[in-house]
Amino acid sequence: MVHRIYFDNAATTPIDPRVLDAMQPFFRQGWGNPSSLHREGREARAAVDLARRRVAELLGAQPSEIVFTSSGTEADAMAIRGSLLAAGPRDAHLVTSAVEHPAVLACCQRLEREGVAVTRLPVDHDGVVDPDSLRQAMRPNTRLVSIMAANNVVGTLQPIAELARIAHEHGALFHTDAVQAAGKIPLSMRDHPIDLLSLSAHKLHGPKGTGVLYVRTGVPLTPLLEGGGQEGGRRSSTENVAGIVGLGAAAAIAREEMSDEAVRLVRIRDHIIDSIAAVLPNAYLIGDRYRRLPGHICLGFSGSEGEAIRLLLDLDEKGIAVSSGSACSARHSGEPSHVLEAMGFDPLRARGSLRITLGRFNTMEEANRLVEVLPESVRSLRTITSVASPGQPAATHRPTGSQIPGSNRQFQNQYQ
Ligand code: PLP
Repeated sequence: MVHRIYFDNAATTPIDPRVLDAMQPFFRQGWGNPSSLHREGREARAAVDLARRRVAELLGAQPSEIVFTSSGTEADAMAIRGSLLAAGPRDAHLVTSAVEHPAVLACCQRLEREGVAVTRLPVDHDGVVDPDSLRQAMRPNTRLVSIMAANNVVGTLQPIAELARIAHEHGALFHTDAVQAAGKIPLSMRDHPIDLLSLSAHKLHGPKGTGVLYVRTGVPLTPLLEGGGQEGGRRSSTENVAGIVGLGAAAAIAREEMSDEAVRLVRIRDHIIDSIAAVLPNAYLIGDRYRRLPGHICLGFSGSEGEAIRLLLDLDEKGIAVSSGSACSARHSGEPSHVLEAMGFDPLRARGSLRITLGRFNTMEEANRLVEVLPESVRSLRTITSVASPGQPAATHRPTGSQIPGSNRQFQNQYQ
């Protein structure tokens, strides 16, 4: 069988075998309900408590500040809707950014329809929010600022500590969607004045269907799910014990291995970027060259825009799984990315990016295979494109700051 290479770790990560080993006993024996008083219940409770401590350690938080949820999406909804509900009066204002994940954007949109005023901050060419734009957006009735820690399409990191400070100066809470960042870059709640943070187990080599909302002590939050009063009354529902155990194990491994893993992934990431630049002068890097997740690459190919899906399928046939940067799911794969549009890319280019995201189990050999295969795939597409659509309008967006060295001298100087 051909060895498949998985470079789509921003979509989901393969489960770490150590995580699976930790979870397995909780399907066969440790299936008790953590709310029960008998031994089965107490054992399940102890496992959930251990996982809570492990996630708290990853985040530099107190165990009581960790609320288990069913996903990153639920954690986002709980943070945004829950904090606005707790704030009371309806004349609330909420600030977010134009490049958030749909889990945040859709939640804000719904609140807007319900009467909440929403400001979506623009981003610069690299996808970064300017703290001054947040300062200007703040109003006396701003209750919450929600800005992601790392972008899922381009991998750009936001200055969340500074953004959180600005929110606080104006009396608002600060939430960050750290689904892509948690376990990849240090995020200590001791150093970051963050009130609410979402993460998801399946992005850090844990199981799907388990997430966390970190809620700083004292931050008011109205629960979205009420019933049995689990999670300190903040999120009712019988706990997904095996999933929570898996998340705890994934968090402990991430805490232990994060810095070595980041160094290794940055080396592979930069090798891919530099090697592709050397052989494909029409390739350009999307997003900030350095202020990005360790394993995240988003590429565009001048002249082959609009062909990202074909490129993805061609690589898939050759045994390499990557993603189109245009969307986080196949359902929207032909549509321009709202993230790239917000970064100033015209609709054609906003459809034409390729997302290569590395994880714990990727190797330099796999990177070399990609570097060997990708140029030939891009070149064959360019041939098809130029034959199939000779009259295609020239793209107006000219990438500047992030052009991969090799084809742009000006950038070469910045880069070296
Ligand atoms: N937020 C970001 C930035 C994401 O990348 C994702 C998943 O792709 C989510 C939220 C949703 O997380 P989940 O799949 O756990 O609901």
